[in-house]
Amino acid sequence: MFDNLSDRLAETFKRLKGHGKLSEANIADALREVRLALLEADVNYKVAKDFVAGVRERAVGQEVMKSLTPAQQVIKIVREELSSLMGGQAEGLNLIGRPPQVLMMVGLQGAGKTTTAGKLARMLAGMGKKPLLVPADVQRPAAIEQLKKLGAQLGVPVHDSDPGGDPVDICVRALGTASRLGCDALILDTAGRLHIDEPLMAQLERIKQKLQPGEILLVADAMTGQDAVNVAEAFHQRLGLSGVVLTKVEGDARGGAALSIRAVTGVPIKLVGVGEKLDALEPFHPDRMAGRILG
Ligand code: GDP
Repeated sequence: MFDNLSDRLAETFKRLKGHGKLSEANIADALREVRLALLEADVNYKVAKDFVAGVRERAVGQEVMKSLTPAQQVIKIVREELSSLMGGQAEGLNLIGRPPQVLMMVGLQGAGKTTTAGKLARMLAGMGKKPLLVPADVQRPAAIEQLKKLGAQLGVPVHDSDPGGDPVDICVRALGTASRLGCDALILDTAGRLHIDEPLMAQLERIKQKLQPGEILLVADAMTGQDAVNVAEAFHQRLGLSGVVLTKVEGDARGGAALSIRAVTGVPIKLVGVGEKLDALEPFHPDRMAGRILG
Protein backbone atom coordinates (compact mmCIF):
# COMPACT_ATOMS: atom_id res chain seq x y z
CA MET A 1 0.00 0.00 0.00
CA PHE A 2 0.95 3.57 -0.63
CA ASP A 3 4.37 2.78 -2.02
CA ASN A 4 5.70 2.90 1.51
CA LEU A 5 4.92 6.35 2.71
CA SER A 6 7.31 5.97 5.64
CA ASP A 7 10.29 5.61 3.32
CA ARG A 8 9.17 8.60 1.31
CA LEU A 9 8.99 10.68 4.46
CA ALA A 10 12.30 9.39 5.80
CA GLU A 11 13.91 10.37 2.50
CA THR A 12 12.43 13.84 2.74
CA PHE A 13 13.82 14.29 6.23
CA LYS A 14 17.25 12.83 5.58
CA ARG A 15 18.79 16.26 5.26
CA LEU A 16 17.44 17.30 8.60
CA LYS A 17 20.07 16.74 11.29
CA GLY A 18 19.81 16.75 15.04
CA HIS A 19 16.87 17.58 17.19
CA GLY A 20 14.94 20.73 17.76
CA LYS A 21 11.56 22.10 16.89
CA LEU A 22 9.61 21.05 13.87
CA SER A 23 9.14 24.16 11.79
CA GLU A 24 6.79 25.01 8.94
CA ALA A 25 9.73 24.81 6.52
CA ASN A 26 10.90 21.48 7.95
CA ILE A 27 7.67 19.74 7.39
CA ALA A 28 6.41 21.42 4.22
CA ASP A 29 8.21 18.87 2.00
CA ALA A 30 7.01 15.94 4.02
CA LEU A 31 3.44 17.17 3.96
CA ARG A 32 3.59 17.64 0.22
CA GLU A 33 4.64 13.97 -0.01
CA VAL A 34 1.82 12.94 2.29
CA ARG A 35 -0.75 14.85 0.24
CA LEU A 36 0.55 13.38 -3.04
CA ALA A 37 0.56 9.89 -1.63
CA LEU A 38 -3.03 10.31 -0.42
CA LEU A 39 -4.21 11.60 -3.77
CA GLU A 40 -2.38 8.79 -5.57
CA ALA A 41 -4.20 6.41 -3.24
CA ASP A 42 -7.45 7.85 -4.59
CA VAL A 43 -8.35 9.52 -1.32
CA ASN A 44 -11.12 12.10 -1.61
CA TYR A 45 -9.54 15.49 -2.42
CA LYS A 46 -11.09 17.38 0.47
CA VAL A 47 -10.26 14.61 2.91
CA ALA A 48 -6.60 14.74 1.83
CA LYS A 49 -6.52 18.54 2.17
CA ASP A 50 -8.11 18.58 5.62
CA PHE A 51 -5.87 15.74 6.70
CA VAL A 52 -2.66 17.54 5.75
CA ALA A 53 -3.89 20.73 7.44
CA GLY A 54 -4.56 18.73 10.61
CA VAL A 55 -1.11 17.15 10.60
CA ARG A 56 0.54 20.51 9.94
CA GLU A 57 -1.25 22.08 12.88
CA ARG A 58 -0.14 19.32 15.20
CA ALA A 59 3.43 19.09 13.90
CA VAL A 60 4.54 22.71 13.60
CA GLY A 61 6.27 23.99 16.70
CA GLN A 62 6.23 20.66 18.42
CA GLU A 63 9.32 19.80 20.41
CA VAL A 64 10.95 16.81 18.84
CA MET A 65 11.12 14.04 21.36
CA LYS A 66 14.68 13.06 22.23
CA SER A 67 14.06 9.48 21.23
CA LEU A 68 12.68 10.32 17.80
CA THR A 69 14.10 11.90 14.67
CA PRO A 70 11.97 14.66 13.14
CA ALA A 71 10.93 12.23 10.41
CA GLN A 72 9.85 9.67 12.96
CA GLN A 73 7.94 12.34 14.82
CA VAL A 74 5.99 13.39 11.73
CA ILE A 75 5.36 9.75 10.86
CA LYS A 76 3.98 9.23 14.36
CA ILE A 77 1.62 12.17 13.94
CA VAL A 78 0.60 11.01 10.46
CA ARG A 79 -0.12 7.54 11.79
CA GLU A 80 -2.25 8.84 14.65
CA GLU A 81 -4.15 11.16 12.35
CA LEU A 82 -4.69 8.40 9.76
CA SER A 83 -6.14 6.24 12.49
CA SER A 84 -8.45 8.97 13.72
CA LEU A 85 -9.51 9.71 10.13
CA MET A 86 -10.78 6.14 10.01
CA GLY A 87 -12.60 6.50 13.31
CA GLY A 88 -9.82 5.78 15.80
CA GLN A 89 -11.54 2.94 17.61
CA ALA A 90 -12.68 -0.41 16.28
CA GLU A 91 -16.50 -0.50 16.13
CA GLY A 92 -18.17 -3.78 16.91
CA LEU A 93 -21.45 -5.08 15.53
CA ASN A 94 -24.61 -4.08 17.32
CA LEU A 95 -25.87 -7.35 18.70
CA ILE A 96 -27.73 -6.05 21.70
CA GLY A 97 -31.48 -5.82 22.00
CA ARG A 98 -34.14 -8.47 21.98
CA PRO A 99 -33.39 -11.40 19.67
CA PRO A 100 -33.66 -12.11 16.88
CA GLN A 101 -31.16 -9.48 15.85
CA VAL A 102 -31.59 -8.42 12.25
CA LEU A 103 -28.56 -7.63 10.12
CA MET A 104 -29.41 -6.25 6.71
CA MET A 105 -26.76 -6.48 4.00
CA VAL A 106 -27.00 -3.97 1.17
CA GLY A 107 -24.76 -3.09 -1.74
CA LEU A 108 -24.18 -3.16 -5.46
CA GLN A 109 -23.89 -6.39 -7.42
CA GLY A 110 -20.42 -7.87 -7.37
CA ALA A 111 -19.32 -6.03 -4.23
CA GLY A 112 -19.30 -9.32 -2.32
CA LYS A 113 -22.63 -9.07 -0.49
CA THR A 114 -23.68 -12.71 -0.66
CA THR A 115 -20.19 -13.99 0.19
CA THR A 116 -20.04 -11.56 3.11
CA ALA A 117 -23.46 -12.72 4.35
CA GLY A 118 -21.98 -16.23 4.51
CA LYS A 119 -18.80 -15.01 6.22
CA LEU A 120 -20.87 -13.09 8.74
CA ALA A 121 -23.00 -16.17 9.47
CA ARG A 122 -19.79 -18.07 10.17
CA MET A 123 -18.50 -15.29 12.42
CA LEU A 124 -21.76 -15.10 14.40
CA ALA A 125 -21.91 -18.88 14.76
CA GLY A 126 -18.37 -18.72 16.12
CA MET A 127 -19.64 -16.26 18.75
CA GLY A 128 -22.21 -18.81 19.87
CA LYS A 129 -25.14 -17.30 17.99
CA LYS A 130 -27.59 -19.17 15.79
CA PRO A 131 -27.89 -17.23 12.55
CA LEU A 132 -30.44 -17.70 9.78
CA LEU A 133 -29.47 -16.68 6.28
CA VAL A 134 -32.27 -15.01 4.31
CA PRO A 135 -31.97 -14.69 0.53
CA ALA A 136 -33.97 -11.58 -0.32
CA ASP A 137 -32.54 -11.10 -3.80
CA VAL A 138 -35.44 -12.71 -5.59
CA GLN A 139 -34.73 -11.30 -9.05
CA ARG A 140 -31.65 -13.47 -9.28
CA PRO A 141 -32.37 -17.13 -8.57
CA ALA A 142 -28.61 -17.69 -8.79
CA ALA A 143 -28.18 -15.50 -5.69
CA ILE A 144 -30.63 -17.69 -3.76
CA GLU A 145 -28.75 -20.81 -4.86
CA GLN A 146 -25.41 -19.25 -3.92
CA LEU A 147 -26.64 -18.52 -0.41
CA LYS A 148 -28.11 -22.01 -0.03
CA LYS A 149 -24.75 -23.47 -0.99
CA LEU A 150 -22.95 -21.27 1.52
CA GLY A 151 -25.44 -22.24 4.23
CA ALA A 152 -24.93 -25.95 3.50
CA GLN A 153 -21.16 -25.49 3.64
CA LEU A 154 -21.40 -23.73 6.99
CA GLY A 155 -24.15 -25.82 8.52
CA VAL A 156 -26.23 -22.65 8.88
CA PRO A 157 -29.96 -22.76 7.99
CA VAL A 158 -31.17 -20.76 4.99
CA HIS A 159 -34.72 -19.45 4.74
CA ASP A 160 -36.57 -20.99 1.81
CA SER A 161 -37.25 -17.87 -0.25
CA ASP A 162 -39.34 -18.30 -3.32
CA PRO A 163 -37.89 -16.77 -6.49
CA GLY A 164 -40.10 -13.95 -7.74
CA GLY A 165 -41.73 -13.46 -4.32
CA ASP A 166 -41.97 -10.09 -2.61
CA PRO A 167 -38.70 -9.43 -0.72
CA VAL A 168 -40.48 -7.66 2.13
CA ASP A 169 -42.87 -10.60 2.65
CA ILE A 170 -39.94 -13.01 2.47
CA CYS A 171 -38.09 -11.14 5.21
CA VAL A 172 -41.20 -11.04 7.40
CA ARG A 173 -41.79 -14.76 6.90
CA ALA A 174 -38.13 -15.40 7.73
CA LEU A 175 -38.87 -14.06 11.23
CA GLY A 176 -41.27 -17.00 11.61
CA THR A 177 -38.62 -19.43 10.34
CA ALA A 178 -36.13 -18.01 12.84
CA SER A 179 -38.43 -18.52 15.77
CA ARG A 180 -39.34 -22.05 14.57
CA LEU A 181 -35.65 -23.00 14.27
CA GLY A 182 -34.56 -21.17 17.41
CA CYS A 183 -32.35 -18.76 15.47
CA ASP A 184 -31.37 -15.53 17.22
CA ALA A 185 -29.90 -13.58 14.28
CA LEU A 186 -31.20 -12.96 10.78
CA ILE A 187 -28.82 -12.03 7.99
CA LEU A 188 -30.77 -10.51 5.10
CA ASP A 189 -29.02 -10.74 1.75
CA THR A 190 -30.89 -8.04 -0.15
CA ALA A 191 -30.93 -7.39 -3.89
CA GLY A 192 -28.02 -5.64 -5.57
CA ARG A 193 -27.94 -3.84 -8.87
CA LEU A 194 -25.15 -2.72 -11.13
CA HIS A 195 -26.12 0.87 -10.35
CA ILE A 196 -28.12 2.51 -7.61
CA ASP A 197 -31.68 2.91 -8.78
CA GLU A 198 -34.92 4.15 -7.30
CA PRO A 199 -36.88 0.85 -7.20
CA LEU A 200 -33.96 -0.82 -5.38
CA MET A 201 -33.75 1.94 -2.78
CA ALA A 202 -37.52 1.93 -2.26
CA GLN A 203 -37.48 -1.82 -1.75
CA LEU A 204 -34.64 -1.59 0.79
CA GLU A 205 -36.49 1.18 2.63
CA ARG A 206 -39.57 -1.02 2.94
CA ILE A 207 -37.52 -3.90 4.30
CA LYS A 208 -35.91 -1.53 6.80
CA GLN A 209 -39.30 -0.20 7.94
CA LYS A 210 -40.77 -3.66 8.43
CA LEU A 211 -37.80 -5.44 10.00
CA GLN A 212 -36.14 -2.58 11.93
CA PRO A 213 -32.62 -4.04 11.57
CA GLY A 214 -30.09 -3.39 14.33
CA GLU A 215 -27.44 -3.27 11.63
CA ILE A 216 -27.67 -2.02 8.06
CA LEU A 217 -24.32 -2.90 6.57
CA LEU A 218 -23.18 -1.66 3.20
CA VAL A 219 -20.90 -4.14 1.48
CA ALA A 220 -18.53 -2.12 -0.70
CA ASP A 221 -15.62 -3.14 -2.90
CA ALA A 222 -12.37 -1.49 -1.76
CA MET A 223 -10.88 -1.86 -5.23
CA THR A 224 -13.38 0.67 -6.61
CA GLY A 225 -11.85 3.53 -4.58
CA GLN A 226 -13.85 6.75 -4.74
CA ASP A 227 -16.80 4.97 -6.36
CA ALA A 228 -17.20 2.99 -3.15
CA VAL A 229 -17.30 6.27 -1.22
CA ASN A 230 -19.99 7.67 -3.53
CA VAL A 231 -22.01 4.46 -3.20
CA ALA A 232 -21.72 4.67 0.59
CA GLU A 233 -22.95 8.26 0.56
CA ALA A 234 -25.97 7.40 -1.60
CA PHE A 235 -26.97 4.38 0.50
CA HIS A 236 -26.43 6.27 3.73
CA GLN A 237 -28.64 9.16 2.65
CA ARG A 238 -31.56 6.86 1.90
CA LEU A 239 -31.17 4.14 4.50
CA GLY A 240 -29.04 5.45 7.34
CA LEU A 241 -26.25 2.88 7.34
CA SER A 242 -24.91 1.60 10.65
CA GLY A 243 -21.67 0.33 9.17
CA VAL A 244 -19.64 -0.62 6.14
CA VAL A 245 -18.02 -3.92 5.27
CA LEU A 246 -15.15 -3.19 2.93
CA THR A 247 -14.33 -6.21 0.76
CA LYS A 248 -11.29 -7.23 -1.30
CA VAL A 249 -9.07 -5.18 1.00
CA GLU A 250 -6.23 -7.71 0.58
CA GLY A 251 -5.93 -6.76 -3.09
CA ASP A 252 -6.36 -3.02 -2.59
CA ALA A 253 -2.97 -1.46 -3.21
CA ARG A 254 -4.19 2.08 -2.64
CA GLY A 255 -6.51 2.29 0.33
CA GLY A 256 -8.52 5.28 -0.90
CA ALA A 257 -11.93 3.91 0.08
CA ALA A 258 -10.73 2.75 3.49
CA LEU A 259 -9.33 6.21 4.20
CA SER A 260 -12.21 8.29 2.88
CA ILE A 261 -15.45 6.48 3.74
CA ARG A 262 -15.61 7.42 7.41
CA ALA A 263 -14.49 11.01 6.85
CA VAL A 264 -16.95 11.59 3.99
CA THR A 265 -20.02 9.75 5.30
CA GLY A 266 -19.49 9.49 9.06
CA VAL A 267 -20.26 5.75 8.81
CA PRO A 268 -17.72 3.46 10.45
CA ILE A 269 -16.09 0.57 8.63
CA LYS A 270 -16.86 -2.33 10.94
CA LEU A 271 -15.48 -5.32 9.06
CA VAL A 272 -13.12 -6.02 6.21
CA GLY A 273 -13.13 -8.86 3.70
CA VAL A 274 -9.62 -10.12 3.03
CA GLY A 275 -10.16 -13.03 0.65
CA GLU A 276 -12.72 -15.26 -1.02
CA LYS A 277 -12.77 -17.95 1.66
CA LEU A 278 -15.46 -17.94 4.33
CA ASP A 279 -13.02 -17.25 7.16
CA ALA A 280 -11.62 -14.18 5.41
CA LEU A 281 -13.59 -11.58 7.38
CA GLU A 282 -11.98 -9.50 10.10
CA PRO A 283 -12.89 -6.66 12.44
CA PHE A 284 -11.61 -3.33 11.16
CA HIS A 285 -8.92 -1.73 13.34
CA PRO A 286 -8.17 1.85 12.27
CA ASP A 287 -4.76 1.89 13.98
CA ARG A 288 -3.64 -1.34 12.32
CA MET A 289 -4.84 -0.12 8.94
CA ALA A 290 -2.91 3.12 9.49
CA GLY A 291 0.20 1.06 10.22
CA ARG A 292 -0.35 -1.04 7.12
CA ILE A 293 -0.77 2.04 4.96
CA LEU A 294 2.44 3.56 6.29
CA GLY A 295 4.31 0.31 5.59
P1 GDP B 1 -22.61 -9.91 -4.66
O1 GDP B 1 -23.07 -9.76 -6.08
O2 GDP B 1 -22.38 -8.56 -4.03
O3 GDP B 1 -23.48 -10.79 -3.83
O4 GDP B 1 -21.14 -10.53 -4.75
P2 GDP B 1 -20.61 -12.00 -4.43
O5 GDP B 1 -20.75 -12.32 -3.00
O6 GDP B 1 -21.19 -12.94 -5.42
O7 GDP B 1 -19.06 -11.78 -4.69
C1 GDP B 1 -18.53 -11.36 -5.93
C2 GDP B 1 -17.09 -11.87 -6.06
O8 GDP B 1 -16.26 -11.22 -5.11
C3 GDP B 1 -16.98 -13.36 -5.76
O9 GDP B 1 -16.08 -13.94 -6.69
C4 GDP B 1 -16.39 -13.41 -4.37
O10 GDP B 1 -15.63 -14.56 -4.12
C5 GDP B 1 -15.52 -12.17 -4.37
N1 GDP B 1 -15.26 -11.62 -3.02
C6 GDP B 1 -16.10 -11.27 -2.05
N2 GDP B 1 -15.44 -10.78 -0.98
C7 GDP B 1 -14.13 -10.84 -1.26
C8 GDP B 1 -12.91 -10.46 -0.56
O11 GDP B 1 -12.91 -9.97 0.58
N3 GDP B 1 -11.74 -10.68 -1.22
C9 GDP B 1 -11.71 -11.21 -2.49
N4 GDP B 1 -10.52 -11.37 -3.06
N5 GDP B 1 -12.81 -11.55 -3.17
C10 GDP B 1 -14.01 -11.38 -2.58
